Amino acid sequence: MIQSVAFIGLGAMGYRMAAHLPQHFDTVYVWNRNFEKAQQHATEFGTLAIELQNAVQADIIFSCLPTSQQVDEILAQVQLKSGSIWVDCTSGVPESARAQSEQLLQQGVRFLDAPVSGQTIGAENATLTFMVGGNTEAFAQALPIMQTMGKIIKHVGESGTGFAVKAVNNMMMAVHLCAAAEGFTTLKAHGVHLQEALDCINASSGKSGVTETVLPQRVFNRSFPLTFALPLLAKDTGIAVDLVREARISAPVIGLTQNLIQVANDLAEPNSDFSTAIKMYESWSKITLE
Ligand code: NDP
Repeated sequence: MIQSVAFIGLGAMGYRMAAHLPQHFDTVYVWNRNFEKAQQHATEFGTLAIELQNAVQADIIFSCLPTSQQVDEILAQVQLKSGSIWVDCTSGVPESARAQSEQLLQQGVRFLDAPVSGQTIGAENATLTFMVGGNTEAFAQALPIMQTMGKIIKHVGESGTGFAVKAVNNMMMAVHLCAAAEGFTTLKAHGVHLQEALDCINASSGKSGVTETVLPQRVFNRSFPLTFALPLLAKDTGIAVDLVREARISAPVIGLTQNLIQVANDLAEPNSDFSTAIKMYESWSKITLE
C-alpha cells in the first residue's frame, strides 16, 4: 500500500511531472537543490517541500536529474527506508543503474531505471513514455504512479535496460537531426522553397520526428526554445556510443553522429536547446534554414 511519494529534482521535466502526483496521492514530498523551486512547487501544486533526508523516507521516490552522477551524489547523502522503491527518471548510464540497484538492495530498497520521453510538453500533459529496467515486482508496484505521469509504460528488461533504450532513442533522434540539417541546407542551396519541401518530405518516406516537429516548430521560425538542453543530448549520444563499444559491434553512423553532436555542443552558446545543433551546419554552409 503506497502512502507517500517523493520527487527529487524539479528541473524542466521533474517540476511538471511531480505536479500530477497530488491529484492521486495525499502525501507528496518534493526536494530540489535550489530549494526555492521546491517551495514554489508546494505553493503551486499542493506538494510538501521538505529536507532531502525526510523526502527520501517516502514509499516510492522518483528522481529526475541531469545524469547518473548526480543520482550517485544524492544516494551517498541519504539513508533510505527498507521496502521502498527508487524510480530514477534521469536519462542515465546503464552501468550506473546496475551498481545503484545493487547498492540500494543492501538497504532493502529496489531500484528501477525509468527514463522518459515526450519532452516538457509530455511532462505537462502526463503523456510521457516510460522505458523501465529492473525488478518486475517493483515495476508492478510503481506502475500506478508512473501512469499518473505517462501514457506508454513498458518494462524493457533487467536493470540498466531502460537507460539503454533511452540512449539509443536519443541517438536516433540525433541522427535524424543531422540528416535533416544536411538535407535541408542542400535543398536551400539548390533554390528549393523550404516549407514546400518540408510538406513533401513529411508526406514521404524521409520524414522523422525532427522533420515533423523540430524543423517547423523550432528551426524555420528561428525560436529554438530551450526545453531540452544540448549538453543533455550530447550526454545521451555519449551513452549510446559506450553501449555500442560494450556490445563490440560496428555502428559507424552512431560514432559519427556522436562526434557531430559533441562539436555542435562545443560551439553552442550556454543554455542552448538541442535543436541549435542545426546552427553548426548553417555556419558551415553559410545557409540559414528559415
Ligand atoms: P534540467 O537541467 O532542467 O533540471 C535538472 C535538475 O537536476 C534540476 O532540478 C537541478 O536542480 C537538478 N540538479 C542538477 N545538478 C544537481 C546536483 N548536483 N545535485 C542535486 N540536484 C541537481 O534538466 P531536465 O529536467 O531537462 O532533464 C532531467 C533529465 O531528464 C535529464 O537526464 C534529461 O536528459 C532527461 N530528459 C529531458 C527532457 C527534456 O525535454 N528536457 C526529455 C526527456 C528526458 P537546480 O534547480 O538546483 O539546478
